[in-house]
Amino acid sequence: MKENGTQMHAIVCEVQRELFTLICEQGEIHAKLRGAFYKENSIFPVVGDKVLIHFNQNGDSIIEKVFERKSKFSRTDFSGHAAGYVKTIKEQVLAANFDYVFIVDSLNKNFNVNRITRYISLALKSGAKPVVILTKADLCNNVDYYIKEVKSISEKIDICIISAKSGIGMKQLDSYLKRGSTIVLLGSSGVGKSTLVNEIAGEELMKVSEIREDDSKGRHTTTHRQLIMLPSGVAIIDTPGIRELGMWEASEGIDDTFSDITELFGDCKYSNCTHTTEPSCAVKKAIENKIISNERWKLYCQLKNEDEWGKNKAIYTS
Ligand code: GDP
Ligand code: ZN
Repeated sequence: MKENGTQMHAIVCEVQRELFTLICEQGEIHAKLRGAFYKENSIFPVVGDKVLIHFNQNGDSIIEKVFERKSKFSRTDFSGHAAGYVKTIKEQVLAANFDYVFIVDSLNKNFNVNRITRYISLALKSGAKPVVILTKADLCNNVDYYIKEVKSISEKIDICIISAKSGIGMKQLDSYLKRGSTIVLLGSSGVGKSTLVNEIAGEELMKVSEIREDDSKGRHTTTHRQLIMLPSGVAIIDTPGIRELGMWEASEGIDDTFSDITELFGDCKYSNCTHTTEPSCAVKKAIENKIISNERWKLYCQLKNEDEWGKNKAIYTS
């Protein structure tokens, strides 16, 4: 098993202060950081990170290095808000190295197109591929309406209509659930994330909201384990912290989601055009010619000015 001096690759599945829970070939192990992490201006491992571990003479597992990240969700702490001037001070990475972001919402009154738009923006900015998953299809008789709403955000977005209860549409998920893939779940509580994970896993790994059993043996709730490795080799990241990501982080992603609009900015007569009253504004022209709808322009403006929970930002500088 643990031989002195051997090195191994592992994935971070939980971080508790300075103790890391990792998954490697041999299963789950606990590790600490090499002392140098604290001295240098190092990148600290987060959930999803691939790391190199080393077993020392005492039999301890030590994280030697963090491999380059292919995607990440991060929050940035800002300072110097005076007069719209913002200076970045620190980036806090919440999760890394995922392939797909499953944006989960339900086909009922909880469905919220603005929230989905924000999540798509965050996903695009993270570097991973967004997939919109609309759940509870067994309860819905106007699925087309919801599909149209999501398509209004982006024509190109992957949409899966599913019911974890009846099994409708679950096959569509197979192409994302390949061995070695890592998936992040985003979505409000109650939309069916836990039910979906249990269905994918083929066993009850996560607690579904209505079930209140004290027996939590063998189960992982989102407050504890943050990366769950399924027997199929698919990893699921469900971290509550990601839901608190603000719109500062999503702003760039919104520009990507609305590239049909942002591409027009360069064609306005004035480079500092506010697209309100200026003559020869490419945006106004596109709205007049029905190339973009007024609703879509309004949604773009609204999202750029709101934080994640719909409150207006006191300041916004583009
Ligand atoms: P989470 O908070 O996002 O993890 O949502 P849960 O998985 O805990 O589910 C919330 C509620 O929705 C529970 O009562 C589930 O039984 C129910 N639910 C989840 N998926 C479906 C579905 O596909 N169809 C129906 N009818 N109910 C579902
Ligand atoms: Zn303009």
